[in-house]
Amino acid sequence: MTYDSKHLGRSTLTIHAGSEIDPTTGAVAPPIYQTSTFAFASCEQGAARFAGQEDGFIYTRMGNPTTARLEAAVAALEGGAGALATSSGMSALCTVLVALLGQGDHVVGSSSVYGPSRVVIERDFSRFGVTSTFVETADLAAVKAAVRPETRLVLVETPANPTMAITDLAAVAAIAHANGATLLVDNTFASPALQRPIEWGADVVMHSMTKFINGHSDIVAGMVVSATEAMHRRIRPVHAYLGACMDPHQAWLTLRGLRTLAMRVRTSQAGALTVAPWLEQHPKVEWVRYPGLPSHPQYELGHRQMDGPGSLISFELRGGLEAGVRMLNHVKLMTLAVSLGGVESLIQHPASMTHAAMPRPDRLAAGISDGLVRLSVGCEDVEDVIADLSQALDQA
Ligand SMILES: *Cc1c(COP(=O)(O)O)cnc(C)c1O
Repeated sequence: MTYDSKHLGRSTLTIHAGSEIDPTTGAVAPPIYQTSTFAFASCEQGAARFAGQEDGFIYTRMGNPTTARLEAAVAALEGGAGALATSSGMSALCTVLVALLGQGDHVVGSSSVYGPSRVVIERDFSRFGVTSTFVETADLAAVKAAVRPETRLVLVETPANPTMAITDLAAVAAIAHANGATLLVDNTFASPALQRPIEWGADVVMHSMTKFINGHSDIVAGMVVSATEAMHRRIRPVHAYLGACMDPHQAWLTLRGLRTLAMRVRTSQAGALTVAPWLEQHPKVEWVRYPGLPSHPQYELGHRQMDGPGSLISFELRGGLEAGVRMLNHVKLMTLAVSLGGVESLIQHPASMTHAAMPRPDRLAAGISDGLVRLSVGCEDVEDVIADLSQALDQA
């Protein structure tokens, strides 16, 4: 890079990080290196690359030039020392879990994390002797009480999915580090456009880039960003051996999506800032959870820790589940689909969809009520989103 990235604005960095002009052709857009393997000039060079004595590519599962650009870009945006692109957000999580946990270790996690993140720890990693406790991490006393001597990892999702609870990252980092545990933050909901957990003490940040970073609902992808070179070196071989790698074409599409992250987040957030108060005053709406509303329980903390409240809103209808189902069945412009962070507004029902695999008592204890509806406001004209919400609510 010919510029000093430390002095660039965040939108500029989003557009330029990892965007070197191709030295062989001058191509402005990144070339797609659609290859599984890379030729060595000599046997000695191959040996040097495997020994880590010479930089250069070997085999795409271990690294690829197109994927490396995306990794460099996201690492720069998150302020990390290194990043590893993965086939999905779940493979990003599983890579970190395999790299950092062993038999007898204990995990403390946010009770309302993305459903499958909790299920894989409670149902699958438990088979390998990993125990876990999921608590409302917005409640620091609950985090402290859950930590044990054998706690090796604290997994925080903030804002949490789908309760929008906000966890104090600096405080939880202090609790984790005092116990010798690693803090892993799922930054999918905020994206680096709005929150950089490493600045608050996180050791590892993970993303489902399926959501805001790619932003066009056409890719499933993930990323692991390490705060330090030492952590990056610890996770990198596990990433290669597990085969969690990203395909170069997928990396190219995600890079293209990433370039408009800042403007997409600005537009969808402006929409959500209009939609949330409108929902809150609607007679059919029981409550609304949105970090940009003063009614949010961690409104002040959100202001401090994030550059903006984002574009995800959870709400509950009067009439609970039945009213919610009637409403969801009548949306016209908004799409009834899981996922979030795309240019189009998406609406879903966590209890029957993303969090259906969670036992109901755990789900209710995590604040995910039967009638909770999650809305990801997209980049449409906000009047159109409100008109659609309004006609669908009339049916509820
Ligand atoms: C979607 C999501 C994941 C899982 O990511 P995939 O790309 O679907 O594997 C993890 N965490 C959060 C917060 C998510 O929204």
